[in-house]
Amino acid sequence: MTRSSLSERLKHHFLDHFGDSDCTYLSPVLAHALQDPHLVGVNETLASELQLDANFTQQTETLELLSGTRMANHIMPIAVVYSGHQFGVWAGQLGDGRAMTLGEISVADELWDIQLKGAGTTPYSRFGDGRAVLRSSIREYLCSEAMHALKIPTTRALCLFDSSTPVYRETVESAAILCRVARSHIRFGTFEHFYHRGQFDACKDVADYVLARHFSSWQKNDDRYLRLFRHVVTRTANTIAQWQAVGFAHGVMNTDNMSILGDTLDYGPFGFVETYNPDFICNHSDERGRYAFKNQPTIGLWNLNALATAFSALIPSQQLIEALQTYEGEYQSVYRQLMGAKLGLTNMIECDDTLIDQLLACLHTHKVDYCLFFRALCDYEVNTENTQIRDLFNTAADFDNWARQYDERLKREQTGNTERRNHMRSVNPKYILRNYMAQQAITTAEQGDYSQVAYLLKLLQRPFDEHPDAQRFADHPPPWASELSVSCSS
Ligand code: AMP
Ligand code: MG
Repeated sequence: MTRSSLSERLKHHFLDHFGDSDCTYLSPVLAHALQDPHLVGVNETLASELQLDANFTQQTETLELLSGTRMANHIMPIAVVYSGHQFGVWAGQLGDGRAMTLGEISVADELWDIQLKGAGTTPYSRFGDGRAVLRSSIREYLCSEAMHALKIPTTRALCLFDSSTPVYRETVESAAILCRVARSHIRFGTFEHFYHRGQFDACKDVADYVLARHFSSWQKNDDRYLRLFRHVVTRTANTIAQWQAVGFAHGVMNTDNMSILGDTLDYGPFGFVETYNPDFICNHSDERGRYAFKNQPTIGLWNLNALATAFSALIPSQQLIEALQTYEGEYQSVYRQLMGAKLGLTNMIECDDTLIDQLLACLHTHKVDYCLFFRALCDYEVNTENTQIRDLFNTAADFDNWARQYDERLKREQTGNTERRNHMRSVNPKYILRNYMAQQAITTAEQGDYSQVAYLLKLLQRPFDEHPDAQRFADHPPPWASELSVSCSS
């Protein structure tokens, strides 16, 4: 049986909801075609999850749609306006100047936004060109999928086009279009936009839309907005706890980059912690380290406070305060449980917090690679020297001290060694997207060779497995990697 094409399946629930609203929420837009668009990569795993035909990229209509070249008449791309706090300062209206939603497709009762990022200007582009460069688009394409495979809630990417359209950043680069797929593109900043303009009814409309689409069973409850807000608090705490446990730094945790569902959104100058350092700043433009790795949980709460201000149009302040007060407990309990799992502990007991803190302090002092350490720890054997792990430290004494406590702790576990190790291998990835790996793929892609992008996508889709051909990516980064710097420019 032939399946309907992507174009045929696209519906516009968002537009249906807000359609008559005089461009308060959105603007219909036209995609601006790229010169000579060519496919850089297709995420076949996601295509199959979305029930697209295996050969969907061979269909001219779909290719033209996703590269922004030509669209069937029934498709009306829209850009949704939002505002936000950038680096802690209210910035007013700022998005979406370069992303347009083509519509949603339904898969097993869930709707997925299909969005093109970089398809040209919108009424919200301000001075921007509405484009995205190939470099950043490759980073988002790879990292969003890597995060998904690490079981962290995130947007994803279906495919990526390069072109010969020039874009001007620090140098001339080529324009790309990324097809982003998300459960929602509504941001904290979408609510803030209307609240700060005094358009409280619009805040309510957006909340009603989110409820209708994602939480329909709450729609009739009197406390539906409070339920929604509590949900955002919990999901945000949860996702950030996962970032901290895996060592992911987002880089630009502005309120416009925070998803109302708590999904990881907007991959820019992100970075995975390599040599463990809680002060790690992945974004070269973040001079004061507002978004340093260790600050992310607190910034999550700061951003939720900004969202609470917008929700004060819908919920009494005291209830918002009480909901915000649950954040820290939620964050701590998820983080603790994730770190325990990384150590192979099934149930956390009181002394485990000290065990974790001492380990992190030791990794910091000895400049140990976070990912390599935890993967090596999967082979830990009680009462032996564990030379391979020990060798990751400058001197053995600190590790030996810690290992003595870890030995004692493991003896209190009920699970056998094999079971513990297998479980640890399912939570401590062997492969993460190190900056240098993305950079290598970008450099070759900029010369027209996209094979490394495809290779890394496949590798990062199975980060917990052994890939004998990719051993080099499960090792320390090469010395030149420390010279790389990533900024907001994209
Ligand atoms: P970001 O810091 O990348 O999250 O960007 C914030 C907002 O700035 C985005 O939501 C876009 O709407 C807008 N923006 C960024 N780059 C461009 C661009 N090249 N053209 C138009 N708008 C842009
Ligand atoms: Mg953004």
